[in-house]
Amino acid sequence: MTASSAQATKPVPIAVAYGDGIGPSIMEATLRILEAAKVPIAPERIEIGEKVYLSGVTSGMSPDAWEVLRRTRVFLKAPITTPQGGGYKSLNVTTRKTLGLYANVRPCRSFHPFVQSRHPGMDVTIIRENEEDTYGGIEHQQTPEVTQCLKLISRPGSERIVRYAFDYAERAGRRRVTCMVKDNIMKITDGLFRKCFEEEAARHPNIEADVMIIDIGTARIADMPGTFDVVVLPNLYGDIVSDVVAQLTGSVGIAGSANIGDDFAMFEAIHGSAPDIAGKGIANPSALIQGSLQMLVHLGFADHANLIQNAWLRTLEDGIITGDLVDSRGRRGDATTDLFANSVIQRL
Ligand code: NAD
Repeated sequence: MTASSAQATKPVPIAVAYGDGIGPSIMEATLRILEAAKVPIAPERIEIGEKVYLSGVTSGMSPDAWEVLRRTRVFLKAPITTPQGGGYKSLNVTTRKTLGLYANVRPCRSFHPFVQSRHPGMDVTIIRENEEDTYGGIEHQQTPEVTQCLKLISRPGSERIVRYAFDYAERAGRRRVTCMVKDNIMKITDGLFRKCFEEEAARHPNIEADVMIIDIGTARIADMPGTFDVVVLPNLYGDIVSDVVAQLTGSVGIAGSANIGDDFAMFEAIHGSAPDIAGKGIANPSALIQGSLQMLVHLGFADHANLIQNAWLRTLEDGIITGDLVDSRGRRGDATTDLFANSVIQRL
């Protein structure tokens, strides 16, 4: 790719939300890198999350923001704060559901020795069903003493995600897909997910397929992530296991996340808004950078994605890391968000 070929492409509009907590600083860092790499995109900023909620829009997303999302169809989103145990419904869940983003793809790869990991060879992609399960927000207070949450698993939803997982494995040249469920206890709901997995597996004889019960599966993946390849799970298990596996690479601060639907796609960091370090200028922008690279591949800008990925890797190789990371000699990073982004830009 040359600068002139990049300039010849008409910029693609994308929606961008700066989010809460560390969101604005890591988004600013990421967009500066994309701009320096001359990626032909035209970011359109939308406001979502805490600020919008506090201004009186109880959903946390204004009609104008929805209009931009529906028009651009591609959304780069910084993490947003979701109140715990009460308050407004998670905007992440609402966005995934409203835009039909059924597949959550979370590649978790070790960058040892530049980032210390006890699992140097691991390269696992978690594919999480993103719309169903207990995330529908259907919860009831039955009596003051008894509460209830509905777990919904459908055949169309399960078929779609397991098909996505095998198609992903074929496209990415992966050899194995593992399904994790708890169908020894939830025989009907998780049983249906497993059945759909086994039916799809039969259509892909070239790919190894296996099923694990979620508890022992999580224990094994935490102990030996290098022996796993692609893992597909219902929503709740996928949410938890993907954070566990991302942390095994060295930090949740380096894993990106793609939310894919038939008509829309949203890209983000795997982690949250990290209120404990917000405003300190020390957040690692890498996870959002990685999410943005998934977006570039989705948009057909793989050359730009490679260019930035190589500059990002060279930055790590040169020992420039943020404080959430430790290198293989045990040295904790001290780069600020800005210094890290500038270093990536210098290496483009
Ligand atoms: P978190 O991921 O924000 O933070 C967990 C820990 O990791 C903290 O110690 C934090 O400082 C650290 N950390 C996270 N990202 C980092 C980064 N880029 N650089 C350096 N350190 C980093 O999890 P939490 O504290 O449980 O959640 C905070 C808020 O974020 C909650 O409101 C939660 O609902 C929300 N959240 C949002 C998303 C999203 O928008 N997709 C995802 C998860 C959590």
